[in-house]
Amino acid sequence: MTDGMHLLVDALQLNDVETIYGVVGIPITDVARLAQACGIRYIGFRHESAAGHAAAAAGFLTKKPGVLLTVSGPGFLNGMVAAANATVNCFPLVHIAGSSDRAVVDMRRGDYEELDQMTAAKPFVKASFRINRVQDIGRGVARAIRTAVSGRPGGVYLDVPAAVLAETIEAAAAAETLWRVADPAPAQHPAAERITDALALLASAQRPLIVLGKGAAYAQADDAIREFVESTGIPFLPMSMAKGLLPDDHPSSVAAARSLALAKADVVLLIGARLNWLLAQGEAPHWSPAAQFIQVDIDPGEFDSNHPIAVPLAGDIGSVIGDLNAGLERHPVSCPQLWQIELGEKRRTNDAKMATRLAQDPHPMGFYNALRAVRDVLADRPDVYVVNEGANTLDIGRNVLGMSVPRHRLDCGTWGVMGIGLGYAIAAAVESGKPVVAIEGDSAFGFSGMEVETICRYQLPVVIIILNNGGVYRGDGIDPAGTDPAPTVLAPRAHHEQVMTAFGGIGYHVTTPAELHTALQRALDAARPALIDCELAVTAGTESGHLTNLNPHSTVPLAPVS
Ligand code: ADP
Repeated sequence: MTDGMHLLVDALQLNDVETIYGVVGIPITDVARLAQACGIRYIGFRHESAAGHAAAAAGFLTKKPGVLLTVSGPGFLNGMVAAANATVNCFPLVHIAGSSDRAVVDMRRGDYEELDQMTAAKPFVKASFRINRVQDIGRGVARAIRTAVSGRPGGVYLDVPAAVLAETIEAAAAAETLWRVADPAPAQHPAAERITDALALLASAQRPLIVLGKGAAYAQADDAIREFVESTGIPFLPMSMAKGLLPDDHPSSVAAARSLALAKADVVLLIGARLNWLLAQGEAPHWSPAAQFIQVDIDPGEFDSNHPIAVPLAGDIGSVIGDLNAGLERHPVSCPQLWQIELGEKRRTNDAKMATRLAQDPHPMGFYNALRAVRDVLADRPDVYVVNEGANTLDIGRNVLGMSVPRHRLDCGTWGVMGIGLGYAIAAAVESGKPVVAIEGDSAFGFSGMEVETICRYQLPVVIIILNNGGVYRGDGIDPAGTDPAPTVLAPRAHHEQVMTAFGGIGYHVTTPAELHTALQRALDAARPALIDCELAVTAGTESGHLTNLNPHSTVPLAPVS
């Protein structure tokens, strides 16, 4: 005989699941124990959201669904934040949660952690399944994996009631209920005419532009993308998580001339990037009103979601770009030189402006001189994974830190969410075995700060850098009533490095770029958990970073209410 718990682990193993990220408790503790005993790595977190973010990052990095395991009720809900975020970011993830007694839950009789989790999950994931019989465990796992990874990747919820985990079944019959998903994300080519249309439109352009999004990074079609960029000479703009797909210092990169490239491009090839808020919905004044778009996306429902798409190329990026490369022989495309020169000049001007900014050395440190020190150390270590979250920390970090290797930058993504930092860092270290540097605002760090213990427990080579200006955005807010700290203020002059030393890691507190440089070198050389708290001026940074425009500001002066 066997039971649901064994079958669940067998089904995951049969489908090549190597790591589970989670938090144990009723009723799934033994699932984690059993998985570990069977050779699946189990990484236990302190909070389900962080575990879920780790699973999502694992999905992005490996192109296989990351697996999150949580308890029922509140644990499920905590994990759902990450499942929703994974879905929004198009990262494949399977969230498995134990659940309480169906008969009691469905009659609302008040069970332990009572919640109809399958229904609750539906708006937040691609699909939500519940396994109601032990003989459906194999089907549930297969369906969850295929749904997560095929088409547009995303989160899938798989509900496993405690009773099903405990249900017994004859072992030989049970084995026949399991299967391995064949070709989980099949290649998909667009029609040949669309490829011709796309190449013809690009060939007619005076100012063509390629935008690379994190879908392009996810697709692992690096060589094909490079071939297309280099054989056409079309300038490319990497979205933040596509940085490194081609090196930031590539001659065709126009990251440093972004505004000009957007404003003047007349034909735009979007590769795994959506025309959402991060690209100003394709609208003027950020874009030329005359711009025409070609979009490569696995999800045809994405086309026209914001702007007319002149040539939709529905398919997976590897296949589509392969077809475009093959079509170039018959339909050559060559970027006009004038456009390359115009962008090149703008790039040089902006690079010079950035160099001037970075050369300034205020004390206490600001974001730019602190990030300069980080940039200098990382320049010699391209294999380091970079995680980046915060407001100013993210916005400035994205511009200052160059990337030269694909899929080595993980950040707040489509929602601009805080709290992904340590989960992403842990997954990057676990999945790659390589060093990770997580560059965190002091506020952003707080959302998942307890995962420092997880990093220490597993002895991961993660270095956390906290750009500490003592606040959300900055630390100099004042309560007009003079009673409490202002809403944006955090504990002044906090020493976050002590959180790391509390669990056996290395802690540094630095006040100058030179100290930061040395500390980061040492921490990376040690290849052990470390945290560098960087004392920044409380006035460093701007409210909402580069997104101030999204805030409705009070028209009434902020004053005590009498
Ligand atoms: P960014 O935020 O970097 O601009 P988005 O997350 O907005 O990127 O866009 C990613 C897009 O990539 C999504 O529309 C998604 O459907 C698409 N995508 C993901 N994987 C693939 C793939 N293998 N092939 C084609 N498109 C993909």
